[in-house]
Amino acid sequence: MANREKQDEIPASTGIRNYINGQYINPIQDNWLDNYCPATGEVYGKIPNSSKADVENAHLAAKSAFPSWSQTTFEERSRILIKISELLEDNLQRLAEAESKDNGKPVSLAKEVDIPRAASNFRFFGNAITQFASESHESVGQDAINFTLRQPIGVVGCISPWNLPLYLFTWKIAPAIAAGNCVVAKPSEVTPMTAYLLGEICTAAGLPKGVLNIVHGLGTTTGQAIIEHPGIKAISFTGGTATGAQIAKVAAPLFKKLSLELGGKNPNIIFADCDYDDMLTTTVRSSFSNQGQICLCGSRIFVEASIYDKFKTDFVAKVKALKVGHPSEASTNIGALVSKQHFKKVMDYIEIAKAEHGKILCGGNKVVVKGYENGYYLEPTVIEVVSNDCRINQEEIFGPVVTIMPFESEVEVLEMANKVKYGLSATLWTNDLKRTMRMANQLQVGIVWINTWMMRDLRTPFGGVKASGIGREGGFEALRFFTEAKNVCIKY
Ligand code: NDP
Repeated sequence: MANREKQDEIPASTGIRNYINGQYINPIQDNWLDNYCPATGEVYGKIPNSSKADVENAHLAAKSAFPSWSQTTFEERSRILIKISELLEDNLQRLAEAESKDNGKPVSLAKEVDIPRAASNFRFFGNAITQFASESHESVGQDAINFTLRQPIGVVGCISPWNLPLYLFTWKIAPAIAAGNCVVAKPSEVTPMTAYLLGEICTAAGLPKGVLNIVHGLGTTTGQAIIEHPGIKAISFTGGTATGAQIAKVAAPLFKKLSLELGGKNPNIIFADCDYDDMLTTTVRSSFSNQGQICLCGSRIFVEASIYDKFKTDFVAKVKALKVGHPSEASTNIGALVSKQHFKKVMDYIEIAKAEHGKILCGGNKVVVKGYENGYYLEPTVIEVVSNDCRINQEEIFGPVVTIMPFESEVEVLEMANKVKYGLSATLWTNDLKRTMRMANQLQVGIVWINTWMMRDLRTPFGGVKASGIGREGGFEALRFFTEAKNVCIKY
C-alpha cells in the first residue's frame, strides 16, 4: 500500500446499487438478484436486476458528461486517474476481502494480484494519456502536411467477466476515460461487489459525475441493452466466446467499434532442455492460479517424451500438495469456484474426461471444507489424455483441471498446439533460442510466453486470434481503440 500522510476516507457501503451520474440509485423497476458467496454457497446480498430503462439513464448521464469531460485537459484527467489508483491502494484490504467473498478466490491472491493490478490500470493509463501522440506526415513536393487527430468516441460500453472482477473491469474503464470518453459499464452479475465500491472511490477522487456509470444485472438483459443501445458507440468486452459472437452479431449492423477478449485453451509446451525446477513451479501456478479460472491458464500441457514420466510424477506430487480451503485462510492455495452453476460445468467435464478414457492422475472430486460444506470446492485435477482431439483438450473448461500428454517432436507439438479453435496465449519452456523464434512465429496466438507465464507489462498489446477474440487492448493499443483517428491535410 502506498504510504501517504492522509488517507481519504471511503464511507462504508450499505448495499449494492447502480452508480449513475455520480450517485448510487436503485433500479427503476425495483428488481433485485441474489448475490452468492461461493465459499459458503449462501446468499449474502442483493444486486440490481437492471432493465433497459436503467441503461438508458446511465447512457443519458454519460452523454451529458461527455462534452465537458472530452474537453478536460489530459493533465487533469491524468491527475484524477492517478488519484483513483491511490484510493484503490488505500482500500486494498477492504477491496481484497470483498473480491474474495464475491468470487471465492483466496484473499491473499486478491491482495497480491487483483487489487494492485486494478490500481496499476488507473496509474498506467493516467500516465499513458500524457504520452499518447498522434502521427504527422509532411507531403514533400506537394506543399502539404497531414496530421492525425485522436478524438474520443463519446459514450462507450465496457462489459467484464467474473474471474478477475476489478482487474478486468478497470482494464477497460481506465483507458476509456483517460482518452476522454464517458462510460456505461457492467460487471458480471456473479461478482458485482468491487465494481460497486469503485463508484465511491471515483467520486472521492473527484471524477465528475456521469463520466463513469455502472449498471448491475444479467448479461442477457442489462448487458444486451448496452450492446443494443445506438448511443453507445463502442464496446469493449471480455468474456466467453459464445457471448462474444452474440455481441458481434448485434453490434455489426449498428457499426459499433468492437474489442472482444474471449476464451482460451492455451498450450503449455515443455521441452527437455528447459530449466526444470523453474518450469515445474511455474506450471503449477499457470495451471491452478485463481482455481484455473484465468483465460491465460495453460490448460493443455504437452511434455517432451524424454522427460514425460519424470514430469508426471513431480507435477502430480506438487498438485496433490496444494491446499484447497476457505479463501480467507492464509494457507489456502485453491479457494472456491465462482458459482454452483460453474462448479457443475467443471464437474461435468471431469465425467466427459472419464468417458473419453482420460486417466485422472489426481483430483476430480468435490472437497468438503469443514464449516463451509455448501461451498464450491474442487480438488485440482490432472488428466492424462491420449489424443489432442478429445473434448477436454479442445473445449474451455475454465476450472482447476489440466490435461497432460507427451510429444516426440517440435513439428508434432506445434501442430497439436495450433489444432484448437482458440488462439489466446501459449507458454513455451526451452533454452533453445532458434526453436524459440521458430515456434513464437508459428504459434497461432496473440501472446507467447517463453520460460515464464503471465508476466505482464501494461505497455504491451493484449488479445487473441481465432475464437479468442478481435482487437488488442493494453498500452497505446487501448487508447487507439478508445479514440477515432481523423486525418487533417493542410496545403500551405
Ligand atoms: P460471459 O461471456 O458469460 O460473461 C461476460 C460478461 O458478459 C458478463 O458481464 C456477462 O453478464 C455479460 N453478458 C453475458 N451475456 C451477454 C449478452 N448477451 N450481451 C451483453 N453482455 C452479456 O463470460 P464469463 O463471465 O462466464 O467469463 C468467463 C469467460 O471469459 C471465459 O470464457 C474466459 O476465457 C473469458 N475471459 C477472457 C479473457 C481474455 O482476456 N481473453 C480474460 C478473462 C476471461 P453476466 O455475468 O451477468 O451474465
